[in-house]
Amino acid sequence: MTSPLMNVYARAPLAFMKGEGVWLHSREGGEPYLDCVAGVASNALGHCHPVLVAALTEQANKLWHISNMFEVPGQDALAARLTGACFADTVFFANTGTEAVECAIKVARRYHAARGDTHRQTIIGIHGAFHGRTYAALNAAGNAAHLDGFGAPMAGFTHRSPDDWASLAAAIADPAAAAVLIEPVQGEGGARTMTGGFLESLRAACTSAGVLLIYDEVQSGMGRTGQLFAHQWFSGTEPDIMAVAKALGSGLPVAACLATAEAASGMAPGGHGSTFGGNPLAMAVAIAAFDEIAKPETLDHVRALSEHLRGSLATLAAGWPNLITEVRGKGLLIGLKLVVNNRAFIAAAREQRLLVAGGGDNIVRLLPPLTMSFAEAHDVVARLEATCAAMTAAAEVAA
Ligand SMILES: *Cc1c(COP(=O)(O)O)cnc(C)c1O
Repeated sequence: MTSPLMNVYARAPLAFMKGEGVWLHSREGGEPYLDCVAGVASNALGHCHPVLVAALTEQANKLWHISNMFEVPGQDALAARLTGACFADTVFFANTGTEAVECAIKVARRYHAARGDTHRQTIIGIHGAFHGRTYAALNAAGNAAHLDGFGAPMAGFTHRSPDDWASLAAAIADPAAAAVLIEPVQGEGGARTMTGGFLESLRAACTSAGVLLIYDEVQSGMGRTGQLFAHQWFSGTEPDIMAVAKALGSGLPVAACLATAEAASGMAPGGHGSTFGGNPLAMAVAIAAFDEIAKPETLDHVRALSEHLRGSLATLAAGWPNLITEVRGKGLLIGLKLVVNNRAFIAAAREQRLLVAGGGDNIVRLLPPLTMSFAEAHDVVARLEATCAAMTAAAEVAA
């Protein structure tokens, strides 16, 4: 039977009807699944967190959507929280991560254009990056597989490896450079963490060249690494512009492009917009989510849990060198670098009723809700252990 859905996803043959915290109940029933995908790092507070359900239902009975032709008080309230918690002075609300990146690129180019530096248009992207699926975001990431068949590459994008500083520095020094766009911790690309020293050098190089620094914290932000934003682990690394999404709405589509007043100085009415961006329903939920995630207890818990979980995962990896070679990433954005095919590992984990995500460089990612308990994390490791045992046994039978 052919599906009426466009053929763009390789879906697992599994549908869920209900979620509670870190647990998901499938259509077929039976034991629940332990969720370490969390809507790709979006359901930061787990499924159906009572505070979010209350915020959603309360707002749903008042007003959902009104358009940006009018004031939306929830936008002011969430923007005040965001700017109070990081480098930024000003916020644009969008719906998805790729839109937030799109806005960031436009803000950067407008900054230079408004100063008369119209030659400064080049966005410097980083190898292995992922910024979403709109044209500019695809061109900024430069992933050939994602661009294949979609026409000529857009002008004004170039790419460098984070491991080739000389080449990156030369691109920044180029008089046509507008901005560097980088994820402080690459998510889809393979849970790769940029070091504080690298980000500090990048910040300094951008500042001295008059080039803007854009962070894509769509996946690494909102508490995922144990700081509200991943770059806040390192002083002297603040960007000029930052894209945030995924956990910002903790399951509802909400995104934001944050900027300093200086970086956003080229923007004026008519310069950008979104029909749904920042609507009252989205803001009500995102405010409730922000207040939960930004609590010191939540971020403390993420740090403690990730340290504990990483310790257990290192032991697991040491026990299964035939399957796992490395534990990487930051906080609760965790990557296991595999010897075996990551798709096969994900399917085998599913047999243990554990959900994990894939990623570039043949990794599986663990992106549990930030609220996962220590007992649940222990359960995750036990299920991974069972996955490794089953895969090893299957390989022995095949041999
Ligand atoms: C998921 C992701 C995006 C794209 O977000 P969408 O909401 O799917 O558009 C962009 N950047 C990073 C780092 C992401 O992880």
